[in-house]
Amino acid sequence: MQIVCTDKESLVFEKIAAAADVLQVPCYLIGGFVRDKIIGRPTKDADIVCMGDGIELAYAVAESFQPKPAVAYFKTFGTAQIKLSHLEVEFVGARKESYTHNSRKPEVVPGSIEDDQNRRDFTINALAISLNKHDFGQLIDPFNGLQDIERKIIQTPMAPLQTFSDDPLRMMRAIRFAAQLHFTIASETFQAISDNAQRIKIVSQERVTDELNKIMLCDKPSVGWDLLFRSGLLQLIFPQMVDLYGAEYVDGKGHKDNFYHTLQVLDNISANTDDLWLRWAALLHDIGKPATKRFEEGHGWTFHGHEVVGARMVPKIFTKLKLPLNEKMRFVQKLVMLHLRPIGLTKENITDSAIRRLLFDAGEDIDLLMMLCEADITSKNANKVKRYLQNFELVRNRLQEVEANDQIRNWQPPISGEMIMQKFGLQPGRPVGLIKDAIREAILDGLIPNNYEAAYQFMLGKAAELNLQAVE
Ligand code: ATP
Repeated sequence: MQIVCTDKESLVFEKIAAAADVLQVPCYLIGGFVRDKIIGRPTKDADIVCMGDGIELAYAVAESFQPKPAVAYFKTFGTAQIKLSHLEVEFVGARKESYTHNSRKPEVVPGSIEDDQNRRDFTINALAISLNKHDFGQLIDPFNGLQDIERKIIQTPMAPLQTFSDDPLRMMRAIRFAAQLHFTIASETFQAISDNAQRIKIVSQERVTDELNKIMLCDKPSVGWDLLFRSGLLQLIFPQMVDLYGAEYVDGKGHKDNFYHTLQVLDNISANTDDLWLRWAALLHDIGKPATKRFEEGHGWTFHGHEVVGARMVPKIFTKLKLPLNEKMRFVQKLVMLHLRPIGLTKENITDSAIRRLLFDAGEDIDLLMMLCEADITSKNANKVKRYLQNFELVRNRLQEVEANDQIRNWQPPISGEMIMQKFGLQPGRPVGLIKDAIREAILDGLIPNNYEAAYQFMLGKAAELNLQAVE
């Protein structure tokens, strides 16, 4: 075999070969598994294509395992899947696809291994390895995919314009593979992406966003985002990102290019975390800048309130991109909103109450927020970077000190809304909120200690101001 498999994987392929031989169905390992094994990348999915019924083959293969694994099959697609502890194997009959111009769905008929390879998106994804007795292990590489892997090139096996027009998601896949594998997209292929970019509109948002998330999880996600930008796809799928691009000049004064700054921040944070949502927070941290950009005479460029505007944009962007509208979105929104706050704490004479407030607002996410702020330092001046990092170190120390004393991170004020309602016989409404907020503010400002007795007395005073009578 041209690829190095583990003993367990080899055993699985031998079992598949044996079952296929009994059924007299030629079969091949194909696609991503072959590509990743040649590259030396870990992979847990293997695709098997056969000249016959993939579901029938899957059942025959399952019989040869002890205990027998379950077979999940999808009759409409003619595919079946067996999940083993170390490998997920998918079986499908070889297909020949032909696209007609006025239909997005291809006409699919059973085909040969060549037909099946012809319909693959990239040469590096079209490699197959025979699992047949007479040539077991033989690499079948009609498009020089092996050479493209060695040269680290992504190109389509057929004419690229047609390939991308047939299924425009392939444009996103080309860029995602370039970012994931550190490969270059061949110039003719890249040109065809630019020429076909508009066709991305016919692809479902879920499939597009799936690729965006895969780009986000690359070692250097900036590579993918920059390719999306340069191909013209970004303008179509996420125009707010493109608005960050470029530097404007007035009276010789310019501001930094916020698109490339953002990508740098994203790469910086990606070196320290695999958390997809922290990476999204980095991507979106300055998204409010274009809308808030002003040139102030004698002062220069400002982006006042961009964190507030940006935080407001997050739910709209998540909705458009069909990202989850749950606590993940709220986390991203919170980080975008708070991303300037720690910088404000790097000055001298910062009070404990300012530190307490940040701890309260960031809660459990304070460490991730600090990580984002450090990633936000993109100066080329090493001395500046050092100074900024030292300042953040001081902020971290203060945060730790105040947290050790006051335990604000997961803090709830000692008097709840319920208690206020009960004491004064109130229904939920404005007075309850007023008293509750006043207690919280008084504690965060250090006006009263953080305990029940002090908060209780403060509540009585505040209620008296509002002419409220206790009922118990
Ligand atoms: P990953 O698992 O990282 O997504 P992969 O290459 O294994 O990468 P799959 O989506 O699992 O991707 O697809 C398996 C194989 O099916 C690919 O290697 C490719 O040969 C083929 N393929 C997938 N999507 C397309 C497509 N849109 N057009 C043509 N061929 C495709």
